[in-house]
Amino acid sequence: MDTEKPIRICLTVDVESDYGRSDRYDILDRVAPFFEWLGRENVPLTAFVTGRLLERGHAIIDSFQSAGVPIGVHGFEHSTENFGTMNTSHADEIQRGVEAYVKRIGRAPVGYRAPLGIVSRNDIELLGKLGLRYDASIFPVRRPGRFDFSALPRTPFRWEGTGLVEMPFGMLTRSVPAGMSFINLIGAPAAARLLRQSAVVDIHFHNLFTHTPSMRGLPAGLRMMYLAGAWMNGFPCLQSLVSKLRNAGAVFGCLETDALALQADALPSVNFDRAG
Ligand SMILES: [Zn+2]
Repeated sequence: MDTEKPIRICLTVDVESDYGRSDRYDILDRVAPFFEWLGRENVPLTAFVTGRLLERGHAIIDSFQSAGVPIGVHGFEHSTENFGTMNTSHADEIQRGVEAYVKRIGRAPVGYRAPLGIVSRNDIELLGKLGLRYDASIFPVRRPGRFDFSALPRTPFRWEGTGLVEMPFGMLTRSVPAGMSFINLIGAPAAARLLRQSAVVDIHFHNLFTHTPSMRGLPAGLRMMYLAGAWMNGFPCLQSLVSKLRNAGAVFGCLETDALALQADALPSVNFDRAG
C-alpha cells in the first residue's frame, strides 16, 4: 500500500501592470480562457493584487471574487527599478496597498506578497502590526543586490515577535524557485518531474498571455525570456503542468486557506537576523 503523503501544490498569481513594469494593463483583458479553465478544472488559486490596480479598479477583481479566489495585497506601486532591498523599509508601499484593498474589497486583507519578493525587518513588523495573518513573499534564495533569504526555512514558519505566518515559495531545484517564468522555459514535463515536494508556485498573467506593445521598455534580457517562454509555452504549459501533476497524484490546495489553517504558535519561529 502506498502510504506516502501526496505533494500539495498551491498556485498563486501576482496581478500587476503588464510585465510588472509597464504602465499598461492590456494582458489582464485577455485572461477569460484562464478563468474558464480554472472553473472547469476546479483548481484552487490565491491572487495578490497591487494597490494601484485595486484603486483604479478592473474587471479582473470581480472575476477573482466570482471564482471564489481569495485576494491578498501585492504592494502598491510595484516600481521595479527603485524598490530597494531587504534592508529598506517599504512602509508606504504596504500601507497604501492595505488602504486601497480595504476601500475596494470592503474588509481588511489577511495576506501580503511583496513586489519582487523584497521584504525587510521593518516590513515584517509592520505587516504584523497591521494585523495581516500571513506573508507569501520569501524566495528562499539569494538575489544579489536585493535579498539573501537562502538561510530561511523552505516550509511555513512564524516571524518571531509577530503572529505573522510566512508561506515561502517552492523550489524547482536547490536554486531555482517554482515560478512560471522558469517553468515556461523548461516546459511542463520537466517541471512536473522537478516538483517532488509540496510547493507554492508563482504565476504572472504575462507568463501565460503575451502583449508585445507592453514589452516596450523592458530590458532586452527580460524581453527575450518572456518571448521565448510565451512562444514555447505560456498558458498551455500551465494547463499541462496541472494535469501532469494530478496524474502523478499531486493535490492542489489554496494557499490562503492553508495559511489560515496553520497554528502560528505551533510553527518554528524565525528571527529576521537569519536572513542576509
Ligand atoms: Zn509582482
